[in-house]
Order: sequence, then C-alpha cells, then structure tokens
Amino acid sequence: MSIALVIPGRKLTGLVEQLQTLLPDVLIQQWPEVSAPEEVLMAVVWKQPPGSLKAFKQLKVLQSFGAGVDTILLDEELPWVPLCRIVDPHLTRSMQQYLHSVVGYYRQRLDQFSNQQATSLWKPKSPRPLKHIAVLGLGELGAAAALSFVQQGYQVSGWSASRKTLEGVSCYSGEAEFQLAVMNADVVICLLPLTETTNNLLNAQRFAFFKPSAIFINVARGAIVDDAALLNALNSEHLEAACLDVFREEPLPKENIYWQHPKILVTPHCSAVTDAKTAVYQIVQNYKNMLNKVPLLNEVDRVKGY
Ligand code: NAP
Repeated sequence: MSIALVIPGRKLTGLVEQLQTLLPDVLIQQWPEVSAPEEVLMAVVWKQPPGSLKAFKQLKVLQSFGAGVDTILLDEELPWVPLCRIVDPHLTRSMQQYLHSVVGYYRQRLDQFSNQQATSLWKPKSPRPLKHIAVLGLGELGAAAALSFVQQGYQVSGWSASRKTLEGVSCYSGEAEFQLAVMNADVVICLLPLTETTNNLLNAQRFAFFKPSAIFINVARGAIVDDAALLNALNSEHLEAACLDVFREEPLPKENIYWQHPKILVTPHCSAVTDAKTAVYQIVQNYKNMLNKVPLLNEVDRVKGY
C-alpha cells in the first residue's frame, strides 16, 4: 500500500513528513522514485507529465494537489479512477484577501499613481467609485468571494452554469444571462474552471458587454481569456484596467506584452496557493475513505471537467 506524489518541481519534504506521520503504515514516495508502482493506491498529482500514472496498475483514487484539475485532465493516459480536488478554507480566505486587496488597489487608483510616479507627475484624484462587483463562477471560491463583497457593502452579481441562490447576490446563469451579470459591474472577477466550454470564453463579444470603465480580474486560468480580445479592449478604451494572476503560459514569458502594459497588473499565480500543512488532512481523509469504501471528499465530475 503506498501513496505516490507526482508533483514535479515542488519541494515536498514537509508534505511527505506530514503524510508519513498521519499514515505511519503507508509508504509515501515521490515520483519518479517510486519503487513498487503496482502498490500505489493513491496518487497526489499536480501538473504531472502525461503518461506518468499509467504504471500504477492498482490505482484507486487521484487527488489533485490544488483546487483546479484542468492540467491533470490534459493527460490522455490518465487512469479512469475518481479524481478529487482540494477545497480548503485557507485557500478560500487567501483568495478573498487577494481580491479585496486588488479591488482596494484600483479603488485608490494606485495603478494610475504608480504610472504617474514613473514620470514624476503630481496629479491627485479622488478614489474610483467602485460599487458593483460581478463574479463569474459561483463555486467554492466564487461564491465565497461574492458573499464577502456583499458583506463589505458592494452590489454583487454572479454567473454560473446552473442557477444559484446566494443571499445578497443577483445570480444569473447560462449563456443567455451573461450580459445581465456583467453589464453594470465596475469590477468583473473570473473564477471559472478551465474546461472545453470555458476555453477562450472571455472573447471580444463578451468583453463588449462590460462597461468601458470596468476593471477585469482573472484569478482562474489564463486560457479562459482570449488574450488578443483583452488587449484590444484595453487599448481601445473599452476596458479600464486588468489584473491578471494567471496566464496561458506560466511563468509568463519575459517578452509577453502583459509585463509592460500600463493598464495591466501582473501577479505570479499567487492569489490562492495550496498550503500543504492544511491540505494534508483532506488527502489523508480521502485515502482512508478510499480504503473504507465511503464517499470521497470533493470528487470532481471528470466529464464536466470540474
Ligand atoms: P468550482 O467550485 O468547481 O466552481 C466552478 C464554478 O464555475 C461553478 O459555479 C460552475 O457552475 C461555474 N461554471 C463552470 N463552467 C461554467 C460555464 N461554462 N458557464 C458558467 N459557469 C460555469 O471551482 P472553485 O473551487 O470555485 O475554483 C474556480 C477555479 O479557480 C478553479 O477551477 C481554478 O482554476 C481557479 N483557482 C485559481 C487559483 C489561483 O491561485 N489563481 C487558486 C485556486 C483555484 P455550476 O456550479 O452551476 O456547475
């Protein structure tokens, strides 16, 4: 019985130690050093190399090390076993803190003052009147973000695939109601999962529904945004500014225009990072649930892709 951690490029000493303490009888191994692949019952994965899991012939469950599963599902040789993801209050809080900080940054016009500083320009301005926030995606992170903005006194609208009921949030759903969700928003936040349906979902047609004074924040996945459409909206004054935490290619290549664009704030995919110290309990619980044949925590729908 063993658990394989297939999480390339990340220091995992702490996670291995914690798992070993909580599951003393289980062999915890870090891919590619897996001595007996046929004994692996659970794989904890993040951006695994395609095909790297097919040697685990007894695999019973896949556990994403993050909230998203899009990169995991790209693997055409992914074993067809249940796939679970991390849902963690610490991750949710971290996302809320990031979003409130970014909204505060734009409310206080720190983007403009930073640009003014570059030319030693002294030009006071009153704060931007940001009153209405739209959240695209009302899942674990989106719903929590929407409700936290309601608590702060914002008008909030939200958009999802199926209709939600969230106190204080005007909830819209489906293609036909996208426009209603975003048309009055001063800030539009993207918290959709990346799937076949959401790939390039934010294109020219959809950006055209935003107010020209709107600020766009993408904390979901880069490929949900049509980059050319976003740049065009910003350059043609159809969008005020954008804060991007996620990109089609990460790390964002040095030559990418986003780095230098005066209307874009770039952050390095840091809005909500999985904390092994808290996520470990969910991994352990799912391992036990798998052995005891009881329902797994936070299983995703592999067909829907989230
Ligand atoms: P989630 O619980 O799976 O929720 C996804 C939401 O998106 C649901 O409300 C779903 O609607 C909606 N949705 C899916 N497809 C849609 C479509 N085609 N049209 C309209 N709505 C659609 O996901 P989550 O935990 O909130 O996380 C969202 C995403 O954030 C993750 O997938 C991940 O990519 C990203 N993320 C980023 C970071 C970071 O550091 N930047 C950290 C964590 C997560 P239904 O409920 O009706 O199905």
